[in-house]
Amino acid sequence: LVTRMRPFTSTIFAEMTALATRTGAVNLGQGFPDTDGPAGMLAVAKQSIDGGLNQYPPGPGMPVLRQAIAEHRARYGTHYDPDTEILVTVGATEAIAASLLGLVEPGDEVVLIEPYYDSYAASVALAGATRKAVGLVEEPGTGRLGLDVAALRAAIGPKTRALLLNSPHNPTGTVLDRAELTEVARLCVEHDLIAITDEVYEHLVFDDRDHVPLATLPGMAERTVTISGAGKTFNCTGWKIGWACGPAELVAAVRAAKQFLTFVGGAPFQPAVAHALRHELDWVAELRTSLQDKRSRLAEGLTDAGFAVRPSEGTYFITADVRPLGFTDGAQLCRELPERIGVAGVPVQVFTDHPEQWQHLVRFAFCKKDEVLDEAIVRLRKLG
Ligand code: PMP
Ligand code: GLN
Repeated sequence: LVTRMRPFTSTIFAEMTALATRTGAVNLGQGFPDTDGPAGMLAVAKQSIDGGLNQYPPGPGMPVLRQAIAEHRARYGTHYDPDTEILVTVGATEAIAASLLGLVEPGDEVVLIEPYYDSYAASVALAGATRKAVGLVEEPGTGRLGLDVAALRAAIGPKTRALLLNSPHNPTGTVLDRAELTEVARLCVEHDLIAITDEVYEHLVFDDRDHVPLATLPGMAERTVTISGAGKTFNCTGWKIGWACGPAELVAAVRAAKQFLTFVGGAPFQPAVAHALRHELDWVAELRTSLQDKRSRLAEGLTDAGFAVRPSEGTYFITADVRPLGFTDGAQLCRELPERIGVAGVPVQVFTDHPEQWQHLVRFAFCKKDEVLDEAIVRLRKLG
């Protein structure tokens, strides 16, 4: 194995899901829903297979899907030409990897916000670049994990080429607000950085919050690659339909890399996702409400069990401080939890370059049926 990939031999999700399966634990580790997406969307996928859409789709994605993505982004006030400014990818994961491979030179620095989704560090490494991780900071009083603007400014240097941002944020559930994003935008413009924003949880924001795409802020449209996907919005994580939107020259660079990673993917799913983007946003509004309730349900359960939970403002995830229960190391706890009480979570420290600063937090996914969450809560109470 080449040196640059040595730190990335196995993902935490594979490890924890295997452990959960082996022990019969309730899996609140890997973030995937346990119910299906909208029936209309599933029907279009089936019709597509029956109708013979089973060969390679066009390189940039099927026109019907690119058009639907353009209309969906226009809801935020951003306008993309479906022919040159939108690229369909094999999940957001491929869009992230192809963006880095197509836009970042070996030796460049990429700033990440820590904790970061696990594929970011691996993709930066694949591109031969170096990452600089800037930690979120706990806000006094609320415990919200917010952006540290001063630290972000300090992390940007002459070699910094890009900033990879994720909001709504996995694993913390933080939704960056307009004030935070305005600071990010200012720094990107000042230092002429490319922004790559991962917005796969764009619809999953709670308590009347709004998702603000970074590309909508002044000076950002021309330097931002906006990435999202269908998996989290329409409960179809296994379909792996993602996309990247941005100015034509940036998207062309992403496409150059993408065409040699997978070329294309997911032909029969593309019209189904196009249908969902156009006709199923009411379904998504219900999903958001239901996830908000699940967030509160699990937050309460974890609090009762003795954890100190941090606020989750969106996504599938909530983080919990294990120290009030007398534990110090979340990774060790996550390795023991399935066997001990039959619940699986994911240690936040694996998403960081500074594990010692994050070892007190464990991430739990609440994108599960209420009865699954309730069973997990009953089991978690045995810890106290
Ligand atoms: N980004 C974030 C923040 C994620 O949580 C995930 C996993 N769901 C992805 C990207 C990957 O998305 P996809 O499954 O579409 O590749
Ligand atoms: N995005 C999901 C999570 O964070 C799962 C990703 C994966 O299994 N690679 O849990």
